[in-house]
Amino acid sequence: MEFSLIARHFTRPAPGAVLGVGDDCALLAPTPGMQLAVSTDMLLEGRHFMPQDGPAGIGHKALAVNLSDLAAMGATPRWATLSIALPAADDAWLTAFARGFFRMADLHGIELVGGDTTRGALTIAVTVMGEVPPDAALRRDGARPGDDVWVSGVLGSAAAALAYRQARLSMDPLDAARVLPALYLPTPRVELGIALRGVASAAIDVSDGLLADLGHVLERSGVGATLEFATLPVLPVLHKYLHKDVARECVLAGGDDYELCFTAPAACRDAVLAAGQQTNVTVTRIGAITAEAGLTVRDTDGKSMQFAKTGYDHFDE
Ligand code: ADP
Ligand code: MG
Repeated sequence: MEFSLIARHFTRPAPGAVLGVGDDCALLAPTPGMQLAVSTDMLLEGRHFMPQDGPAGIGHKALAVNLSDLAAMGATPRWATLSIALPAADDAWLTAFARGFFRMADLHGIELVGGDTTRGALTIAVTVMGEVPPDAALRRDGARPGDDVWVSGVLGSAAAALAYRQARLSMDPLDAARVLPALYLPTPRVELGIALRGVASAAIDVSDGLLADLGHVLERSGVGATLEFATLPVLPVLHKYLHKDVARECVLAGGDDYELCFTAPAACRDAVLAAGQQTNVTVTRIGAITAEAGLTVRDTDGKSMQFAKTGYDHFDE
């Protein structure tokens, strides 16, 4: 049962591996001279997705959030493993899940080379492996005073969609429909991450909220930052809700955007814009790194904003 399930749903050719699914281990031959970047992310039903969510979307998101970590490191995706616990061998569910997973895999040239399958409460753990040239990885500890702070895409859409779904933010249903894809079908900024090698001084993906994630960069780099709220990129439909505290909190502290927040020397502005253009991703300058520790967000009136919540913490409820 378990083996036919693996054969049917999770066994695909993996030409980039020496040996893929089916043996005791996969065999991988990294490109000589490259460093391996490895990351794992786990998704639990009821926490990262809801029982009623569609399986294709769950498959998409399970891989997308992992690819986002490779993107934030500037690594080229190569291989993935997938460990899945599910309550029953539901063929239709697995077929749709695999469709979403492999569609995302094919988009980014990553190959599934192994995993584990067991019965249990629906849980999905993906490990991704990518490659990056020595000293080219976009680490969290490289931000320097005077660097610009940048972000890709738009912020707050996924959190606004979640807040709408949980009836914490009332929106016109047509507007809500515009932000929902960000929650269900996040786009990992893999190509942008690679294009930022040698340009960005530090990077992180925004999974727990801008302030929290940028906070990690500041801490690891031993610096601070000042951001201008008015420069934060948001979807036009979200603009009309920004007078509400909940919506502003979605932009500053909402999780699940999977955009890249990165820093770069001011001398690299053209190079950053070129990286965005080349990879078809909007990049926006939102502030600057300071020598003094601390993260300040200035409102349109120049006053520093106060926030109750800076991001999402799984152990905080
Ligand atoms: P073992 O008993 O050695 O743990 P398994 O029976 O768990 O082996 O797995 C058999 C093969 O199928 C292994 O190559 C494993 O990597 C692969 N595999 C198991 N589950 C998955 C999955 N969900 N996705 C991809 N490969 C899987
Ligand atoms: Mg096993």
